[in-house]
Amino acid sequence: MANQGFDVVVIGTGPGGYVAAIRCAQLGLAVATVEDDRPGGVCLNWGCIPTKALLRNAEIVDLFHRADEFGITVGEWRADYAQAIQRSRRVADRMAKGVEFLFRKNKITLLAGVGSLKSKSIVEVKGKGGVEILEARRAVILATGSEPKSLPGVAIDETQVISSNGAVRTETRPASLVVIGAGAVGMEFADVYRAYGVEVTVLEALPRVLPLEDEEASAQIARLFTRRGVTVRTGVKVVKVTPGKGSVAVEIDAEGTRETLTAAQVLMAVGRAARTKGLGLEALGVTMDRGLVTVGPTMETAVKGIFAVGDVTGRQMLAHKAMAEGVVAAEAIAGRSPRPVDYGNVPSCTYCRPQVASIGLSEAAAKADGREVSVGRFPFTANGKAVALGETEGFLKVVADKRTGEILGVHIVGPEATELIHEFAVGRTLEATLEEIIHTIHAHPTLSEASLEATLAALGQAIHI
Ligand code: FAD
Repeated sequence: MANQGFDVVVIGTGPGGYVAAIRCAQLGLAVATVEDDRPGGVCLNWGCIPTKALLRNAEIVDLFHRADEFGITVGEWRADYAQAIQRSRRVADRMAKGVEFLFRKNKITLLAGVGSLKSKSIVEVKGKGGVEILEARRAVILATGSEPKSLPGVAIDETQVISSNGAVRTETRPASLVVIGAGAVGMEFADVYRAYGVEVTVLEALPRVLPLEDEEASAQIARLFTRRGVTVRTGVKVVKVTPGKGSVAVEIDAEGTRETLTAAQVLMAVGRAARTKGLGLEALGVTMDRGLVTVGPTMETAVKGIFAVGDVTGRQMLAHKAMAEGVVAAEAIAGRSPRPVDYGNVPSCTYCRPQVASIGLSEAAAKADGREVSVGRFPFTANGKAVALGETEGFLKVVADKRTGEILGVHIVGPEATELIHEFAVGRTLEATLEEIIHTIHAHPTLSEASLEATLAALGQAIHI
């Protein structure tokens, strides 16, 4: 017999879970959420938000180094890494409290404990105070997220071999660091540690950093990181990681040549695995594909009444994708007909300096898709606002269908790239063509003028280059 009954029970309160819960409540459903860590999940507590706070610190440290350029004389100064971490923790705490506030506002019950499914409508919650049984009259939403992966045979001890979980909590920094994996998480931490004087080496098995980005973006970021003193090595396989006294040995295979690197610490950033263990999914017939929960367009799993959103479903493991899926699940449960998530139009963002953002197809992917493309590029060196800001590194690149002008993909390396990308996100949702972008007046001087100019360039009409 259930202790409490709700229309919907959501397991996990990261961006997928908390957004689904709020949207369900807005649609008149009685909602309980279950969380075994902190409200807000990985994103608010250990992922997106604390890392952005650290990157802001790194940006300020970089600006202090450039003070002369702005005619500012700075006396003796010191960048205290412990305080950067403490600030980042305060920012995360504030955001997690914000989720609790939103739950109270929307009359959502929050239960602390580990949730698992006893049947398709019964959720057991094991908390500090004992076991509670919840009935989900309409649906259960799985939003249990993901956890860091490691390489086979390499244990993450959060001391010498750390994951992002350890990195966002540790107030000391190593003298030297090997980052394994040059995806967004690896490159963001490499940038933070570099700014704080750590000798950083980034290792990537694939031929380029940020391997999911357009080749030009990867090349530019590798160049700029190298210029700032980060050692970037791509196409190298890590064979063995051996923690020793005071240092870690990292054996690599670089195109057939074995080499051993040593560093005070290793940061494992090789991706994340969905958290599905112990949820009781197999017994209920929820189907999985390579460890990820399989869902249909309304986020329902193979079992009617069980939905899954966010990292646990794979595809792009991003907070905004999780939130969009949360809304779709909630609306479907409430009996609406939600528009499915458009996975081809999810912005991808890396918040290192300069930032990297993209949407849609890379130039190579568009060509591989058989499209005849026109490409327009605009460098930030030719953008007045970027010059005034002193942030001229990078470019904006538009890839369009040559015949129709359809915007197939946009790739940005540069200041506020992660904000600029949304012009094209909206444009693509509205199926805007190059012509429509160029007939939109962009204010001067703005970074957004680079969007206009790259679009003009794709039509052979760029003015300022
Ligand atoms: P999560 O945020 O992972 O939350 C799931 C929650 O469920 C967790 O709190 C977990 O403890 C809880 N849980 C799991 N199992 C149970 C259970 N059985 N019972 C109760 N509770 C349970 N994405 C971006 O879009 N932008 C970024 O800038 C960005 N930066 C990142 C930086 C780092 C270092 C990391 C690690 C990730 C980053 N991400 C970023 C990815 C982003 O954090 C995830 O995509 C997002 O958090 C996924 O949301 P979610 O709701 O699926 O799950």
